[in-house]
Amino acid sequence: MNESKLRVLFVASEAYPLVKTGGLGDVSYSLPNALRGLDIDIRLLLPGYPAILKRLALIEVHENINLYPLKTPVRILAGTMPGEITPVYVIDCPYLYDRDGGPYQDDDGIEWSDNALRFGMLSKVAALFGSHHLLFKPDIVHCNDWQVGLAPAFSSFNTIDTAKTIMSVHNMAYQGIFGPEVIELFGLPPESFSMFGLEYHGKVSFLKAGLFYSDWITTVSPNYAKDIQTTNYGCGLNGLLSEHQHKLTGIVNGIDTNAWNPETDEFINRNYNVDSLLIKVRNSQDLRNKLKLAPSKQSPIIGMITRLTEQKGIDLVVPIIPDLIKEGVQLAILGSGDRKLEKSLQELASLYPKQISVTIGYDEELAHQIEAGANLFLMPSKFEPCGLNQMYSMHYGTLPIVRNTGGLADTVVDATPDNIQNKIATGFIFENEDSEELLTCIKRALRIFNHDKTSWRQLQVTAMNRDFSWEKSAKQYVSLYRQLLN
Ligand code: ADP
Repeated sequence: MNESKLRVLFVASEAYPLVKTGGLGDVSYSLPNALRGLDIDIRLLLPGYPAILKRLALIEVHENINLYPLKTPVRILAGTMPGEITPVYVIDCPYLYDRDGGPYQDDDGIEWSDNALRFGMLSKVAALFGSHHLLFKPDIVHCNDWQVGLAPAFSSFNTIDTAKTIMSVHNMAYQGIFGPEVIELFGLPPESFSMFGLEYHGKVSFLKAGLFYSDWITTVSPNYAKDIQTTNYGCGLNGLLSEHQHKLTGIVNGIDTNAWNPETDEFINRNYNVDSLLIKVRNSQDLRNKLKLAPSKQSPIIGMITRLTEQKGIDLVVPIIPDLIKEGVQLAILGSGDRKLEKSLQELASLYPKQISVTIGYDEELAHQIEAGANLFLMPSKFEPCGLNQMYSMHYGTLPIVRNTGGLADTVVDATPDNIQNKIATGFIFENEDSEELLTCIKRALRIFNHDKTSWRQLQVTAMNRDFSWEKSAKQYVSLYRQLLN
């Protein structure tokens, strides 16, 4: 192996700015960029969704590749990530990927019925790269989430020398569970369908396959690496993870400090930094105007940008909204997902139109404007593998209110009197999944915002000065890659 040019194929089902539904999309863009900066020859493998085929200038590098026993015709195209030099391979298979709707669901939020085949195909092609049958011959195949979970299984049943595999878990709650017919469909050995393999309660679990057969498992924060070994957070795979803890590491995500930088952010009207925090106030006015909230100089704005799923703790927020209104708070919420949650938030917004703004949908520009304009950012998640928005928030001097779980606990330092005095506090933490506790925590934050401007400024400065860049974490990935190859 050439020590200075380690070759990695990074395989994911989404990557910003091509296709993004959540944090995985951000990581698939910014981690490979950071790793290229550390002299790793890292390349992406993505499914050929229409958004990717349209956006990238691609050339064919392989035609009709042999994916026995699958007969679906597949070509491999190659290009580079927009505005970057990271090479990207795209699986061109119109039958599986060329359709309107999202990467995982149709426009009505229904999972695609052929997801087993769509992502089994992604895994199969990844393993083919790993077994050195294609142009690029990686030393490591870095698989992300259940969509690539079968790749370590395919690789481990290969008799020839293959690349090492890493399974990175961005969220244990999504496991890719399908019927046992998957075994025959992909020509997996029947003995793999066992407890000591990819079987999960009589079905096939793509994520379990990845965890079981990979050479190493990572997850996106040290705390979450511990959490998922417990019944509460392991989503049924905690036993397996405890048994495999010798090959499990938590590496906290970084953020892309080019895309998320209040000093250069092109989506906000007024750029600012830690020395010009007064300008942030004008971003708050802009946000109020844009969202048609009541003009005000004092009302604190609490922001939320989120997938609307149970995980994110929206049900803790809804019951305390009237109390927040009484406190004079304004809320700027952006999200999409669960139709019931969307509806209950919209109803609240119509009750208090000058106090609450709810935007349903996905809006990158508004997300940046909320980060710049809000004073506080709410993430009361029931569980949170890492979370990115709390880090974006701190970087924008918008103090996060988070529950003490997973990556939130790893990245936010609670504003206790001692921590404020020691100049290490960056946000507000509450403990239990409980609306009253959340409300008490918000009131604690509001007291400082309203009555102790010096401490507030100190908290903002500490938060903005924290280093959330990818560099440190990317180096941990490089060490892991090297350790696996030695
Ligand atoms: P998760 O991956 O669980 O959704 P993260 O906090 O890790 O949560 O990452 C979410 C990412 O998706 C962030 O970049 C966030 O800004 C973005 N995001 C989520 N919902 C929306 C939305 N409705 N509009 C714009 N960006 C969104």
